[in-house]
Amino acid sequence: MALIEIAGLTRAYPVGDGELVVLKGLDLSIEEGEFLAIMGPSGSGKSTLMQILGLLDRPTSGAYRLLGRDVSRLSDDEGAVLRSRTIGFVFQMFNLLPRTSALHNAALPMIYAGAPDRDARAREVLELVGLGDRLGHAPNQLSGGQQQRVAIARALVNRPKILFADEPTGNLASDQAEDILRELRELNASGITVIMVTHEPDIAAHARRVIRLKDGRIVADERNAPVPAEAAAAARDGAVATATRPRSRAPARGADADLRPPPLGLAEVREYAASAFRAMAANKVRSALSMLGILIGVAAVIAMLAIGRGAQRAVEARLSGLGSNLVILIPGSTGYGGVHGASGSYSRFTLDDVKALAKVPHVLRAEGNVSGNSQVVYKDQNWNTQVIGATGLYAPMHSDAPYFGRFVTDDDDRRLDRVAVVGRTVLNKLFADPDLSPVGRTIKIDHADYRIVGVLPVKGSTGYRDNDDEIIVPLRTAMKRLFGKVYLDYIWIEADAPDTLDGVMDAVEVLMRRRHHLPDFKDDDFSQRNMSDIQAALTGTTKTFTLLLGFVAAIALLVGGIGIMNIMLVSVSERTREIGLRKAVGAARRAILAQFLIESAALASVGGTAGIALGIAVSVAVSRLAGWAAVVTPSSVLLAFVFSAGTGVVFGLWPARKASLLSPIEALRYE
Ligand code: ADP
Ligand code: MG
Repeated sequence: MALIEIAGLTRAYPVGDGELVVLKGLDLSIEEGEFLAIMGPSGSGKSTLMQILGLLDRPTSGAYRLLGRDVSRLSDDEGAVLRSRTIGFVFQMFNLLPRTSALHNAALPMIYAGAPDRDARAREVLELVGLGDRLGHAPNQLSGGQQQRVAIARALVNRPKILFADEPTGNLASDQAEDILRELRELNASGITVIMVTHEPDIAAHARRVIRLKDGRIVADERNAPVPAEAAAAARDGAVATATRPRSRAPARGADADLRPPPLGLAEVREYAASAFRAMAANKVRSALSMLGILIGVAAVIAMLAIGRGAQRAVEARLSGLGSNLVILIPGSTGYGGVHGASGSYSRFTLDDVKALAKVPHVLRAEGNVSGNSQVVYKDQNWNTQVIGATGLYAPMHSDAPYFGRFVTDDDDRRLDRVAVVGRTVLNKLFADPDLSPVGRTIKIDHADYRIVGVLPVKGSTGYRDNDDEIIVPLRTAMKRLFGKVYLDYIWIEADAPDTLDGVMDAVEVLMRRRHHLPDFKDDDFSQRNMSDIQAALTGTTKTFTLLLGFVAAIALLVGGIGIMNIMLVSVSERTREIGLRKAVGAARRAILAQFLIESAALASVGGTAGIALGIAVSVAVSRLAGWAAVVTPSSVLLAFVFSAGTGVVFGLWPARKASLLSPIEALRYE
């Protein structure tokens, strides 16, 4: 049985409307152990023939049997598997992976074949071609001849039966060319069939048989020397390339074995991840810029989530501290914060209202307040803050027991005393040493002297609102001396138990309508909110916020994904030759697809990780500098990472598919 058998083989390229017939019906038979040179003028179809013989290309018509098997109609992937088991290639342009060690380059075909012990075998073949001392050198650290010897080692690493070499010495100086030819001769002597394309007669003289092509036809077939008996015997035994080839494996590999590509292994994934990071390192600025979209999007989402979560927690903590029995009565019929009713009327709350409300059944206590913003000054420091006028009831109703000094009392209130209880933030702003008790010192509030009698407990911030930025003065002092107000701004009512709250609110409504003489056809000119109303309102805000955030995140990931897709398309077209080479040494479509998907996922997850770091930094900075609570949860970090990697996969699909569908010869011919 001949190793290679072709009959009536043609190959035509479509050109314009017609076609260019390059091979015009070739018949050829090649035995195991031959050393064949294909010669002919440039453009005569030598490379085309070699690519068909090497399963990189398919004939237009005619028969091709390799090892007795009809291979003219193999699929791309079957061709790749058969190639990786039986064929090695050496190209004129070497086609080594740049920035990659000789050892790794030589081992590459074994990754696609799913073969074990790659490093040991790659070292063995590199030693065989005399490069045992250059294992760690990258192609740009090797001479042309050495690079071609790495390429030969790579062709040998899977123990092929046939070695194809397309003008292997075309790019080499003559002494290096001699070395390469000697190498090929020795390999042939050890049993490998060598098929070499050349157009130089003195190189063809090394071969035992020379075929001349002209205009797509074989015009001569000369034998310089017969196949020496020992080479033929070596080839028949399958003792190919080196004596180290395990004999037991030899008969199993051949054209009749199952031609399914091996499943994606860990080694392959590692190789692709390494290749992804090599590509990133080689194009640092470009990769960084293409990650920017994802980075900024993820950082923004992480920071916003953290701040939102922080605000929510603070609000919840504050609300739970307030107790669930409180109702606030505010002027105005609708909306939050006392928006005036449509009629333009709004209620005026008096101290008598408070007294009446305190007598409603199940009301524990009721307390009216006024508030406004004032300028406060201590020595040369000044600060604008909220001043609340309150009575002694305020402290127990709002869990506001002072931690320095005392709260305002009813006596203060009766005497219209200028005394103040200050919040922590005010203390920080006015006093050089806020840890010292300021009790007894005098500050100015709107140009009048007030004596500090106490300090409020620290309450923290709820989102953007700082609950410690306030001063409490006696109610009547605030109304008469500070703000000149006759009416109360709002009234707090406390029910005696959570389950009497609804009844209390109903009774309050009836009472207030009566006290304000509202006829039946008029709406309330006041409104009440209890803590669960406020909580529900806040939860609603949080939901809207989360939805908005999801939308922002989706847009950010879309923009980031398009950035990644763009750079992956560039990367695929830049590395077309590399893809061609990987396919030539046995990569199936699936392998190329996986490589580029892993690359874009790696790009996106590096961007995402940087974005997470930036987002956490921003959250920490915001909570340190602005005093907002920011809580970064592990789940938001995990989510951001998964989503950014997922974006890489989704937006990498198209470029990766494009790469995987490239035909190996077109990719190799790509300039
Ligand atoms: P050589 O003998 O120099 O190796 P080739 O086999 O590379 O020649 O090419 C043979 C002919 O086929 C040339 O005339 C070339 O222009 C043509 N050819 C090769 N590849 C293509 C292609 N993809 N499309 C059209 N024409 C092609
Ligand atoms: Mg050629």
